[in-house]
Amino acid sequence: DQFHSVVVVGGGAGGIAVAASLKARKPDLDIAVIDPADVHYYQPGWTMVGGGVFEPAATARTMASLIPNGVRWIKAAVAAFEPERKAVILEGCRVVRYDRLVVAPGLKLNWAGIEGLAETLGRNGVTSNYRYDLAPYTWDLVRNLRAGRAVFTQPPMPIKCAGAPQKAMYLSADHWLRQGRLGDIAVELYNAGPVLFGVKEYVPALMNYVKRYDANLNFNHTLTRIDGPARRAWFSRKTEEGGSETVETGFDMIHVVPPQQAPDFVRVSPLADAAGWVDVDPGSLRHRRFPEVYALGDACNAPNAKTAAAARKQAPVVAHNLLVEMGHLRGAEVAYDGYGSCPLTVERGKILLAEFGYGGKLMPSFPAWLIDGTKPSHLAWLLKERMLPPIYWKAMLKGREWMAKPEKAAA
Ligand code: FAD
Repeated sequence: DQFHSVVVVGGGAGGIAVAASLKARKPDLDIAVIDPADVHYYQPGWTMVGGGVFEPAATARTMASLIPNGVRWIKAAVAAFEPERKAVILEGCRVVRYDRLVVAPGLKLNWAGIEGLAETLGRNGVTSNYRYDLAPYTWDLVRNLRAGRAVFTQPPMPIKCAGAPQKAMYLSADHWLRQGRLGDIAVELYNAGPVLFGVKEYVPALMNYVKRYDANLNFNHTLTRIDGPARRAWFSRKTEEGGSETVETGFDMIHVVPPQQAPDFVRVSPLADAAGWVDVDPGSLRHRRFPEVYALGDACNAPNAKTAAAARKQAPVVAHNLLVEMGHLRGAEVAYDGYGSCPLTVERGKILLAEFGYGGKLMPSFPAWLIDGTKPSHLAWLLKERMLPPIYWKAMLKGREWMAKPEKAAA
């Protein structure tokens, strides 16, 4: 069997950030990152690709270029966890043992969860910013639509970047407004949930844009089936009486966000909670039953907004606590406060910078005179367009944490 002191499962936003954080604090630590992917994606950039702002290639780097120096990359998929014997099983049955494990394999986009979707994605006006190869098709459709019905869907929570389904809607509608076409295009949001956004402080400003774009909001509607060639979609609508009924609509373009769940190999593992996510303490991010296991990012059950911004704050917390607990660092354990961020692209050039922690507590990074997160801001757009990508590639993934130092000692 192969052995490493620390094994990190997943080389995405959380996994690479944690490996870099650990190396920055303890350069001689023996770490391996396990990930089968050749390419690492900056997924927050895909909204901008779908809005015609970023080139797709700007959101992708080779995995090899991001594995921190001195960290071993095991290019394989993990098939199973065996925490009782401190081991993970790779596909092909190789075993990797560890002293400490960090679990960060992201979540599973369940495209197959909507009947008829997989076979029509990327054709017949059916698109999604949730895939690298499809985000450019969103922008194609938006540019070419002159008149008709544009449908945007949002699945049940939890999903990664809960604002992304409506970001696609606002950027598309803004383009049509500027082109003078919006009068001929009906914009429809079909949301499985009952509200526009889960943190109420942001809703008034979003509603102003809903009015500006004359978007029709359909709550409690979950997409269940789609027929691309016929350009029709079916939703299950929760009725007031607690039942459900089927609602059908036609479309000229439809932006679909698939239902999301914990990856299958996590869901069936001893690490999972009842809903399938890795069961961690929301402060320390340590597993509730296996103290040598930590988790962060979309795969864990901490009740924060599933965002790269959250992973940016979680990574140094995990690195710090793990090293303290291994005896490599002195000091108290630190706690993650639930920070997550969702820059809502309400129009080209303006963003509502939603930043909040556990319980929906607002956690602005900037003083209100500079960026008031509840109001559309051009500066926040510049942050998203110009600053956040280099912060991601050059600071977060390199273990330079001037925006994410764990300051708070756990109670
Ligand atoms: P990921 O970054 O998804 O990485 C998971 C990694 O695990 C991948 O490299 C994968 O190959 C690997 N993996 C999977 N299965 C296995 C396995 N079996 N074995 C080993 N490795 C495995 N966040 C923001 O902060 N701001 C935004 O504006 C924003 N917008 C978004 C817009 C869109 C369209 C999307 C899709 C996401 C957006 N996000 C945004 C969310 C953000 O991208 C995620 O929350 C973040 O990437 C989560 O990091 P992660 O490390 O948990 O998972």
